[in-house]
Amino acid sequence: MMTGRQKMIAAMLDILYPPRCHACGDTVRAGAEIMLCRSCLSELTFIKSPLCPRCGKELDRVGHEDHFCTACLKLPPPFARARSFVHFKPPARTLLHRLKFHGDTGAAATLVKLIARRGEIRAKQEYDLIVPVPLHPSRLRKRGLNQALVLARLLFPAERLKITPAALVRLKNTIAQTDLDGAARRKNLRGAFAADPSIPLRGRRIILVDDVYTTGTTVTECAQTLKKAGAELVDIVTVARA
Ligand SMILES: [Zn+2]
Ligand SMILES: [Zn+2]
Repeated sequence: MMTGRQKMIAAMLDILYPPRCHACGDTVRAGAEIMLCRSCLSELTFIKSPLCPRCGKELDRVGHEDHFCTACLKLPPPFARARSFVHFKPPARTLLHRLKFHGDTGAAATLVKLIARRGEIRAKQEYDLIVPVPLHPSRLRKRGLNQALVLARLLFPAERLKITPAALVRLKNTIAQTDLDGAARRKNLRGAFAADPSIPLRGRRIILVDDVYTTGTTVTECAQTLKKAGAELVDIVTVARA
């Protein structure tokens, strides 16, 4: 609870520095809990069933039941399940870009708060480790933060001790995946990750966290690396899905 004096200071700060929408910069109602304007808020869309139970891809509404997608039937991925919360479009895309390229952790916190309000974030006790997709050390130096690690901490605040950023290392400083098609993405990432041998992964049940699931190439490569190092199960959580 704020004291009268604290309330007065907060009100003065709202006048001097009006709260701004993290996505578009519009002013937000004073005292708002979520720093997103009404128009941006209405644009945010969540991933819904029917889904592929394996890769989490949204399916056509026919039948209204979850069923395996053709890609997973043809070649099951090395992870057990991948799930995302929102569609990768504004304002989610803007908020994630603000985190990734401007180090804006407030933007990421706003997005995760909106997701958590739906009560959808659960890391069941059966998981031993939470591993963020790593950045190459030189990219990490340039950016100053790994967006996947920031998101893992925001998504699973009660399981911070399980978050193990060192479990995976990125060996290759690959070019941006966004410029490549499917086959080129896979080639670009082949051998890009390694498991740190000093972290015991044998028999471990792992949640792998990333910001966006696009074609799944990055998380597939990471999951494969973790499985090869002995992990019993890898599930994927990404905030958004393209
Ligand atoms: Zn806005
Ligand atoms: Zn699938």
